[in-house]
Amino acid sequence: MKKIGLIGGLSWESSLVYYQLMNERVKAKLGGFHSCKCLLESLDFAEVEKLQHQGNWEALHQLMAASAKNLVQAGAEVVILCTNTMHLSAESIREAVSIPFLHIAEVTGKAIQAQKLQKVLLLGTKFTMEKDFYKGILQNQFGIEVLIPSEADRKIIHQVIYKELVQGIIREASKEQYQTIIQKAADNGAEGVVLGCTEIPLLIKPEDVAIPIFDTTKIHAHAAVDFAIGKG
Ligand code: GLU
Repeated sequence: MKKIGLIGGLSWESSLVYYQLMNERVKAKLGGFHSCKCLLESLDFAEVEKLQHQGNWEALHQLMAASAKNLVQAGAEVVILCTNTMHLSAESIREAVSIPFLHIAEVTGKAIQAQKLQKVLLLGTKFTMEKDFYKGILQNQFGIEVLIPSEADRKIIHQVIYKELVQGIIREASKEQYQTIIQKAADNGAEGVVLGCTEIPLLIKPEDVAIPIFDTTKIHAHAAVDFAIGKG
């Protein structure tokens, strides 16, 4: 089993879920007393959030690359970044280390393709919904059409992530707002919804919506384990 290096703390609410999902996956695949070999480089989300909202992506690229290097030095054999948004720095990470980096949008694209869906709604931070780094992979590498919510709805999705979910706050009223936004997209032809923020699965479960969900936290955690144990 390869040792998985996680860049986490973005936020820790979802890093916790990654750790649980990865260990459950190892147990399901290998049985017995098996558990996941991994290392966590846990960052201070306050620093990251500040740089994000200042638009200081260069500093963030350096931070992500340095974190990946730390994991390699500590013995990681594959690295994952436990957030969708900071995949804005994917290129810097790939340049900084020579071990495999499993991109969250690539493994999600594979999962959507496996279900043969052609049009999906993408939910995430405004950076993930509005910039091209994520949609571009789904569209160009997998031929999937990506819808994003209206400007007003994107604002709601983004604010709920930063004001509630990354702080461990789960509100029924926010869940209902998300459900309404997802239903609107389903009415416009979305066949599935990508929960493209690693904390959204804390709020929205498969049974809450009428179309299939793609839980990027789970897809990514499972892909990392499958790779680490040689089944990916
Ligand atoms: N974890 C979230 C994501 O998957 C948002 C936090 C962040 O901005 O890194 O995008």
